[in-house]
Amino acid sequence: MTSATVAPAAAKPPVRVVAAALFDGEGRVLLADRPRGKHLAGRWEFPGGKIGAAESARAALSRELAEELGVTVQAARPFMAVSHEYPDRSVDLSLWLIESWSGEPRPLDGQRLAWVAPRELSGWDILEADAPFIGALRAFTGTTMTQPQTFEVRNPRSGEVDYRFTAATAAEVGRVAAALRAQQLNWRDAGLSHRIDVMQRFKAELVARSREIGDALTRDTGRHLLSLGEAQSVPGAIDRWCRKVPGFGAPPEGRSEGLPTVSYGFQLVPYPLVGAISPWNFPFILSFIDAVPALLAGCAVLLKPSEVTPRWIDPVRSAIDSVPELAAVFAICQGGRETGEALVAAVDAVCFTGSVKTGRLVGASAAAHFIPAFLELGGKDPVIVTANADIERAADAVLRASISASGQACQALERVYVDRRIHAAFVERLAAKARAVEINWPDIHRGAVGPFIWAAQARVVEQQIADAVAKGAKVLAGGTIEKHGGEWLRPTVLVDVTHDMQVMTDETFGPLMPVMAFDTIDDAIRLANDSSFGLSAAVMAGSMEEAEAIGRQIEVGAVSLNDCSLTTVMHEAEKNSFKLSGLGGSRMGATGYLRFLRTKALLRQSGAPATVAVLAEENAPRYGQDGAVMPVAPLGRGGHVSS
Ligand code: NAD
Repeated sequence: MTSATVAPAAAKPPVRVVAAALFDGEGRVLLADRPRGKHLAGRWEFPGGKIGAAESARAALSRELAEELGVTVQAARPFMAVSHEYPDRSVDLSLWLIESWSGEPRPLDGQRLAWVAPRELSGWDILEADAPFIGALRAFTGTTMTQPQTFEVRNPRSGEVDYRFTAATAAEVGRVAAALRAQQLNWRDAGLSHRIDVMQRFKAELVARSREIGDALTRDTGRHLLSLGEAQSVPGAIDRWCRKVPGFGAPPEGRSEGLPTVSYGFQLVPYPLVGAISPWNFPFILSFIDAVPALLAGCAVLLKPSEVTPRWIDPVRSAIDSVPELAAVFAICQGGRETGEALVAAVDAVCFTGSVKTGRLVGASAAAHFIPAFLELGGKDPVIVTANADIERAADAVLRASISASGQACQALERVYVDRRIHAAFVERLAAKARAVEINWPDIHRGAVGPFIWAAQARVVEQQIADAVAKGAKVLAGGTIEKHGGEWLRPTVLVDVTHDMQVMTDETFGPLMPVMAFDTIDDAIRLANDSSFGLSAAVMAGSMEEAEAIGRQIEVGAVSLNDCSLTTVMHEAEKNSFKLSGLGGSRMGATGYLRFLRTKALLRQSGAPATVAVLAEENAPRYGQDGAVMPVAPLGRGGHVSS
């Protein structure tokens, strides 16, 4: 390895080595026996240190393991990182534990593969750079490899850790998924009225624990009123779906136009196991928004709620356990990213509510596993206020829809465009109303704005305000995060904002109202559409006609006309998320249920099936002299080839 001609190690960027420890069911690790020495099977060098972040390393690792060893990675986590100095170069090593994988490893040309128990590794001729890995792996028994991760959860009001839970490992997710799958056929075959009956019993168990669930949600989110509303909302949603679902059937039966002896009907076949992954902003509602229609459709459901707000899970789990028929087909696996990744690998369809960043990862993983992904992601909702709008009403609606849940709602208004002719008057009213709103600290029973549920979100909002002010924005109300253990922001009004500021382009998820003046309605529509998001929007105008004419031109999945954020309270209207705000069928209306059912056509031949004569070249149509196709002689009983 040494050479007098190579440049000193320090002058060169280190070589980045990413290695994978792949274990079998007996806790043995896979080694590759190569001429240079034995090393972990699944080991790649990235000269120049390229491949930085954990996500790019994870993606590279999964890709390389698929290409070189023919195995599919379901869950992997970084385990250790060390540096190693050779005489002529330095190497940065990172070792990943592959917690869950499938396939049969096959060797590359010129290498042999061997499964070796970690305690036997010392007897092997190991590549020098891998020695630190191997040393660490020697302590492994194969079971510690999937050691569960413990989460410490902070209370949003006090900022103190007051709750801990243990995450489900990839192996556990696999076991739970297999158990649910095994019960799903019974659930499907028991029929819709049985499932409605079971869901109604579950609803009664939730109602009986309503106070307990509401209190837990209050601790999870630091807000009281919305938590009680959330505790009541899920039983209400169960009722609504149970009433509606019997009316959402298969398409009508019919008869073939080309083959009159063939009629058709349909069977709706549920996906066996649906996965649901939910965020922290409305932890209970968003965990059940897809799970309820999926269960009614006859699917089993595996839910992974957010690790940021887990306190509501205990009382809800007890409600599930009280209804054994439901507990057989519905389970909750707690955890963070790794549990979520394992879930995507274990299900037949996934419903994800969360950020665009994670949604992209979930979508890519779903594609790799060839399952559908229903993605409901972030938003940057605009509102257009025209010169004809009632200023007082518009200011009230905009304020309410921007600061509801402290702005921690996907459909919160985050951009306000106001006709220049009423801009000054509107801003004056909005700022006055904003200043009058109190935070719910120190008394949780007073005020309209709760704390940031997740401290990291406060940093995002702080950064957006700083960026806007640095670029010339003025703060007319609020603007400073208050720390009282947890963190609060009073309703914040910003003016002199432009689309060069993060506050007008990135999702905020805080009680911010950046207001911008426009000169023409065309300008307002152009500004509203100048966004990578397309969740929802609002128009406050002088009449419904005026509002609708504008609303029709905004590129989003739902527009509230002469009110704001009506999607918060409307569940009947179908809607898609446009642009980066989501993918997949509507979660509202009939589609919200039917997307969990695959349509199988039943094609019924009442005549005799076609014979082989339909394939005989002699029976091919001929062209006449005028170039037209001549009529074909009848092919006998059973019809003809149509495609
Ligand atoms: P997030 O994307 O960080 O996390 C969402 C969930 O994904 C969590 O349960 C998390 O543990 C899990 N997760 C993280 N990495 C994963 C991975 N690699 N594979 C699988 N699962 C993984 O989102 P968040 O911060 O919890 O929630 C806020 C976001 O949710 C905002 O962007 C908001 O707009 C969005 N949201 C959208 C809607 C909607 O209906 N469109 C509703 C509410 C919230």
